[in-house]
This record gives sequence, structure tokens and C-alpha cells, in this order.
Amino acid sequence: MHTSTSNEYLRYLPSIDAVMRRPDVDALCRKFSRSITIKAVRLILNDRRMKILSSTEHCQTKNDASSEITSSEIVTIIADILKPSLRNVINATGIIIHTNLGRAPLVNEAIESIIEVARSYSNLEYDIKRGERIARSEHIEELLKQISGAEGGFVVNNNAAAILLCLNTLARGREVIISRGELIEIGGSFRIPEILEQSGAVLIEVGTTNRTHVQDYRHAVTGQTALLMRAHTSNYRILGFTSEVELSELCRLGQELNIPVVFDMGSGNLLDFGKFGLQGESTIQDAVKSGVDVITFSGDKLLGGPQAGIIVGKHKYIHKMKSNPLARALRIDKLTLAGLEATLQLYAYMPEQIHKIPVLKMFMTPESTLKRKAQTLVRTIKQEVPAIDTQIIKETSQVGGGAYPMYNLPTWAVALNPSPLSVNAFEALLRSSSTPIIARISKDRIVFDMRTLFPKELPIVAGAIIAILRKHNIDSDNMQNI
Ligand SMILES: *Cc1c(COP(=O)(O)O)cnc(C)c1O
Repeated sequence: MHTSTSNEYLRYLPSIDAVMRRPDVDALCRKFSRSITIKAVRLILNDRRMKILSSTEHCQTKNDASSEITSSEIVTIIADILKPSLRNVINATGIIIHTNLGRAPLVNEAIESIIEVARSYSNLEYDIKRGERIARSEHIEELLKQISGAEGGFVVNNNAAAILLCLNTLARGREVIISRGELIEIGGSFRIPEILEQSGAVLIEVGTTNRTHVQDYRHAVTGQTALLMRAHTSNYRILGFTSEVELSELCRLGQELNIPVVFDMGSGNLLDFGKFGLQGESTIQDAVKSGVDVITFSGDKLLGGPQAGIIVGKHKYIHKMKSNPLARALRIDKLTLAGLEATLQLYAYMPEQIHKIPVLKMFMTPESTLKRKAQTLVRTIKQEVPAIDTQIIKETSQVGGGAYPMYNLPTWAVALNPSPLSVNAFEALLRSSSTPIIARISKDRIVFDMRTLFPKELPIVAGAIIAILRKHNIDSDNMQNI
């Protein structure tokens, strides 16, 4: 609510024209551009207007209204406007494959390939030797075959697109049999029954939530059956009295009845993570060996590449999918393809360098390294704010991205008590740092998991924490008074 007095104060505000005529502002117009400078000035004036109208302290209001708009104030706002909306954040959640935070950070080789291809023209759909047009996915088909052991490979925009293309190509207007225990929903409203419907296939559910037998599939087969489908139950497990049909058994049934088996493997491990203590998830290679006809998985989950939907399997089915007009609508873009090729090359030819892929590296980081990182962070903060209440705690990280839902990786974290600031206030301040920091809140503390922090981010996190503590006078003197 504003009074006639605050309206009066509005008159103290300079006009846009008056500000724009100033020589220092004119210099800004030449340095940046007139349109962005005027936008910044307008935002500042609007902000002041709002302040005046909502203020009740007359003296303060008069000051606000008449104080000069400085050019450094304008530069700050210009920088704000120019900041990209999509930008880097620091992931201190410990969730390695965090869909909201962009899933897999890329390995250098992939980043370099992307930059190279982006800079110029490329042979995206062109066979240089023969001077003929080719399909873009051919650039990685051999790599996919070599790594997976499958007869053929194809790639589209993401795994959801891969499943849609597979079902639409092989089962449109016909029936797809799937166990009730696998009618999954992944985050972001991806549901198997819905994608099946969109593909034009008819869902035939068999078995029960916890138990499905091979006879259930067999009894459901009709002349209309196009596929037997399996979906990786990525983000949950059914425990207790359960039974699912072995993959090889399902494949034997498919072969006997001449019905292809498709498997949405979700994360798609190309490595045997059993070596790292994570048992129970089979690899793409295992699934190919079991005789699955078509396998789909994501490029940006445990594989550690860019967003992509990878399809491997029997040549005749892959060929059909490539010729489906829908493939054109779901196609992968050239930058992604460049990054994916470079990542797959590491798997195919440089297995000893695979640990360079960031998600794999985070996965494999030994606990002792994580503990050392936590100690370094605490030491750095305490040097500046000795009395801050921090603890180094043993925690668990999640793999995320629907991989290994039951496994928690032992990790080390720093837990910080921001009192007298509330944990929620502190967490919000971390998010508004110049590089936003995303941390967890647990038991009235802010928890920074060391697993997903890149080494170069450690000083940035320390700096941001120290800056927040200082700004809110949570330094040693104040702490002692609490
Ligand atoms: C993640 C996941 C998907 C979706 O993959 P996108 O690449 O995000 O499209 C589909 N199925 C399963 C089992 C998954 O885990």
C-alpha cells in the first residue's frame, strides 16, 4: 500500500533519458550495447520504484529515490542479464547420475570432439571415401557392435526415444507381453504402459507384481503377439517372495515361438560393476549373450557419455528401425554423436583409460581419497572461520539415474551446522553463489558429499562457505558469544 508521500518520492527518481544521457552511461552503451544498457537501467529504476512504493520509512525512501544510479550498479545488472540460464553448478549431493543436474559430466576426449565438430562442417551424413550419403548413426555402429557383441547398433535422441522407436517398428497394432513386476515409471513421467500406448502397441500384462513365471508369458502368446518385453526395474526392487523369469529362459521361449525379445536396460552397464562391489546388475554384453533380440539403454547414465538412446541387437530388427520414418524425428544431433563416439572409443580401444570417464571415476573413488577431500575442505574453512561447527562423517552416496537402487556407496562427507543461520537459509545461499552449489540437508546440517565434487571445485566450495559465514558475521567472535 502506498501513500501520497511515497508517490511524491517517486519524483526524485531520474528519468530513463536522464540516466542514458550521462557520459559514463554512454560509455557503457559503447562497451556493451545500447539495448542491454537501457534494459539494465530500466530494471534498476523499476526496482527503486517498487522499493519506494512498498516502503514505510520516509527518510530511507527519500534516500533510495534520490541516490544516484552508479555505472558499476548498471554493469552488475548487465552481467546478470548476460549470464546464461543453463550453466554449471557444483553437485555436492553425492548422487552421481543426477538427472536434474544434467546426468553425466563428459570426459575430455568427448568434449574435444564436440568442439571440433561444432566449429566447422563435418561428414555427418557423408561417406568421404565413396562420396555418398550415409546415415549418421553409421559413425558409431561398428563401435557399438564391437563393444556389445551384437550384430547391429543404432542410436537416437534418448532411451525413451529408443523404446518408442523399437515398439513402434516391431509391434505397432500388435501385442507386447510384459510382466506386471516391470510396469515401471521412471522420474519425469516416463511410464512403460504409456510409451507402449504411444507406440501403437497393445500391452498384455502377465504374472503378478512379485512373481512371474515363464508359463505366464507362454499362455499369453497369441497370433497377435509381436514382442516379449523386459524392462529393467531401475529405481526400485521388489523383495521377499519374488520370482522373475531368467533372461536366458525368456529368450529360449522367444526363440521357440519365433517372437523377438526386447529389453529396456535403462542405465546400460558396459562394465562389470561386480568388481566394485555392486552385484546383481547384468551388463549389456551379458544380455546380448543371453540371446536378447533388441536392447535399449541410455548414453548418459552409467556409460558416462552424452544424452543418447542406444539400440543394439539382431541386424534384421535394427535395419527395420532405421527405416522407420519415426527414426528421422528421433535422431541424434551431431554434437552428441561426436561426444558419444569419443566416449565409446575409450570403451572399445582404451580399457585402461576408462577410469577417466567422470561417472566411472566418481564411482571408483576409494573411501580414503574421499576422506582426505573432506579433511581438506574442513581445514580450509577452519583456517578462516575457526569456530565453525563442522564434522567429517561417513555417509552413503547413491548412484542415481535408476542404477543400483539398493546399493549405497560408502562415502565421506562434511556436515556443517550453520547456526545461527537456519539450514534452509544456508542451503539457499549456497544455491545463489556465483557457481551454485547443490548440497543436501540432513538432521539440521548441510551435508557436502565428497564423491561428486571435482578436485578443482573443492576450493570454490570452501570459498563460498567462508563468504556466506563472513557475510552473516558467523565468524569466530560471534560464535563464541552464542
Ligand atoms: C532412465 C531410464 C529410461 C529413460 O531413459 P532416457 O535416456 O532418460 O530417455 C528408460 N527406461 C529405464 C529402465 C531407465 O532406467
